[in-house]
Amino acid sequence: MIARAKPPLVFDAPKRATLPTHLADLDLKARRLAVVELGLPPFRADQLARHYFGRLEADPASMTDLPAQLRERLGAALLPTLVRPVTELCCDGGATRKTLWAAWDGTRAESVLMGYPDRATVCVSSQAGCGMACPFCATGQGGLRRNLSCAEIVEQVRQAAVAARDGVLGAPHRLSNVVFMGMGEPMANYRRVVDAVRRITEPVPAGLGISARGVTVSTVGLVPAIERLAGEGLSVTLAVSLHAPDDELRNTLVPVNTRWNVDEVLAAARGYAETTGRRVSVEYALIRDVNDQPWRADLLGRLLREQLTARLVHVNLIPLNPTPGSEWDASPLAVQDDFVARVRAAGVACTVRDTRGREIAAACGQLAAGS
Ligand code: SAH
Repeated sequence: MIARAKPPLVFDAPKRATLPTHLADLDLKARRLAVVELGLPPFRADQLARHYFGRLEADPASMTDLPAQLRERLGAALLPTLVRPVTELCCDGGATRKTLWAAWDGTRAESVLMGYPDRATVCVSSQAGCGMACPFCATGQGGLRRNLSCAEIVEQVRQAAVAARDGVLGAPHRLSNVVFMGMGEPMANYRRVVDAVRRITEPVPAGLGISARGVTVSTVGLVPAIERLAGEGLSVTLAVSLHAPDDELRNTLVPVNTRWNVDEVLAAARGYAETTGRRVSVEYALIRDVNDQPWRADLLGRLLREQLTARLVHVNLIPLNPTPGSEWDASPLAVQDDFVARVRAAGVACTVRDTRGREIAAACGQLAAGS
């Protein structure tokens, strides 16, 4: 059922011309410098950060251990409001909740919070729109608006953590997982995404203290960026959106394949798995009569076993979610089951993703931010 959780809010703050700096854009050292520039001792930066990252508090008025006149100054300088919820939609009995955000300049993006018995996951956007133009994905149809800043990404996570803690999913949840599977191509916004991952995973007061093992970065396969990510010393899971085991079809489903092909993407994925010791997740949206043939399942299994070695990979099948204007459809259940069995027969782990949020256009590939 679709339920509007709250009446729509209008983000009425005046539009600004340039992106304001936010505490969450800065590492520990840069924060202290910023505070010193305000004429204050550096420890005020840590105090502010403990409120923001530790208590998830962004309202300076509630930071009562700070002298009243400092609250206002520090808040104005380092905690500008960057994103505000415009609408929230819920489904799955309240366990899936999509938020449409308006940024300080009117740009819109979406994130999705999902509650499970033992965890809560937020799916965040790294860009407003996307430039990758995959034809089965709603985000790809609108093109790229702009990159989101590090703090705009971290704010999606912080606000989701507050909502989960305060019980919007039914019972109070601790936000344990963050997946970069919302709008945008994270590896095309590399620096800000990596900074955001650090802010999300570093312990309080440097960051939110969410385990890196609970963070997944998903990419269409921008090979140089995957190679660079492997060297960042982050233990995040890499997800690669493959969708076809052969270049002929992948060129049409994931257009950037004409730049980095299946072999090159899998080699980079293997490098990532070997360097980090983390199993790579291969995403495969199963589309009826397009990429669901038995021979493609066999080819996928063989390729992954040979190029990644089975222990370094896990296939995540995503039944295709409908998008406006697309005639493509999910595969019938029997075809899907056979596909899974064939990949597994090659010795490669394969599961079907639990699809959340279809009725509110919150599932994989459905985020369009009203555009
Ligand atoms: N740009 C990144 C991050 C987006 S993640 C990437 O492509 O990996 C969103 C995932 O959902 C990707 O694997 C994407 O290919 C997949 N997806 C897109 N449209 C979909 C649809 N209509 N149905 C199912 N999965 C879809």
